Amino acid sequence: MTTVILRNADCIYTCDDRNRAYRNGYILVRNHRIAEIGHEPWQGHHADISHDLTGCVVIPGLINTHHHFFQSIVRGIPATQRAFAIDWLAGLYPLWSELDPEALYWASMTATAELLLTGATTTADHSYLMPSEDGDFVVSQVNAATDTGIRLHLVRGSMPTMEGDLAARLAPVMGKRLRRLQDRDEELIPAIEDALRIHHDPSRHSMLRLALGPTGVSYARPDFMRRIADIAAAGNCGLHTHYLPRQIERTLSRQLTGLDPLSVLAESGWLRPGTWFAHCTELDDNEIKAFAENGCGVAHCPRTIIRLGYQIPRIAAMRRQGIRVGIGVDGASSNDSGSMLNEVRLGLMLHRINTPDDADPLSEWMTPYQALLMATRNGAAILGRDDIGHLAPDMSADIVAFDLDDVSYVGASSDPLAALLMCGSDSRARLTMVNGRTVVENGKLASFNEDAIVTNAGAAGHRLLSAAQRHTGIDFARPTGEGQQAHMV
Ligand SMILES: [Zn+2]
Repeated sequence: MTTVILRNADCIYTCDDRNRAYRNGYILVRNHRIAEIGHEPWQGHHADISHDLTGCVVIPGLINTHHHFFQSIVRGIPATQRAFAIDWLAGLYPLWSELDPEALYWASMTATAELLLTGATTTADHSYLMPSEDGDFVVSQVNAATDTGIRLHLVRGSMPTMEGDLAARLAPVMGKRLRRLQDRDEELIPAIEDALRIHHDPSRHSMLRLALGPTGVSYARPDFMRRIADIAAAGNCGLHTHYLPRQIERTLSRQLTGLDPLSVLAESGWLRPGTWFAHCTELDDNEIKAFAENGCGVAHCPRTIIRLGYQIPRIAAMRRQGIRVGIGVDGASSNDSGSMLNEVRLGLMLHRINTPDDADPLSEWMTPYQALLMATRNGAAILGRDDIGHLAPDMSADIVAFDLDDVSYVGASSDPLAALLMCGSDSRARLTMVNGRTVVENGKLASFNEDAIVTNAGAAGHRLLSAAQRHTGIDFARPTGEGQQAHMV
């Protein structure tokens, strides 16, 4: 039996059913679970491991509800720095198509390390690109999560059809290699069923669960959407995909199916608890009502919205209707930083800017505590979990501490949570614990050699860039458009 005591925390925000916060508190962890929370002085005598958290604010481990690990080794690519949506995808697919299991392992190490360092203890990963039959992409991700120590909800994804006119645009550039991107049912379905059978652990305190879902709603293949929903229902796992939907998608849906996008989701069994959608930037009133009534969640990815020029989602309207809205950092190609804490900071603010005819009223601007709940309790509910997302006895010991003893927090001591979410120029955690294991200590990764990740992931990214350039002739380092650039000398 291992016991760990976290002592002298400046303030512990439990996010529990009574919204309790403890000034000058302690947490006792026993056998991977939280055993006690209280005010100092702790009355116990011995613990195997002790951490002094003087000057720290302590919160439940943050829960990231949307990511694409594979993108983490190719960020800030000049050719797509200013591209919008489909152009951005067209620019990056030739690069991503070079992915192999080893590159995915290092990309996943990068993504999970960055999440743990910035306060996330659980993450979803929407992994929809597995462009080769050599090796096992799922195992690469599972191994990386085990090595860094994060709790993983792996969305075993797919791409049955490509969005918009992408296939036609990419064919001249990629030739036969375009086939690497699109899945074929006869290979995909058995692979999904195998992954579910081998890796999905629905038990309480599980470190690895699976969910299913293609990269976007396939309006050309509603039969595929239904099949995936049926497999997920039979396998007792969640469903996840991107859903905005843009006007062009609404038109396409009507052309191909005779239905609006919401009806396609309803008819294919996607409107149910356990389903969550990324972005939801253009939901209408019917969609908000249907998501709320059917228990569907939303992964809000604030920085992606800014990076790709999306509309700002109607967060207040969603919350008013009772939709569970969580926070997601999204893939590193549309959020070149994977900092979870910074994403929560931005989520607290972004909805305050809104289109004039759909303004989030001042009375509904979120408090720092509501933003924290989005990234903790809401995230847990979206992923269908009752063992993470708040701090209480018998919950998994997923705990994060941030040190506020820093010049960037001066003057904010009256509200430690506001200090963390409204101030601060750094996002590294002092301590990150997942399932009772310390994986970040004093702002450094404790579970794996961080320098090895930097070196190996950097090399894997270079390998992808050179292979893509060799196969397509595209110079990914060359910026597109006329914007002013510095000249390297
Ligand atoms: Zn995404």
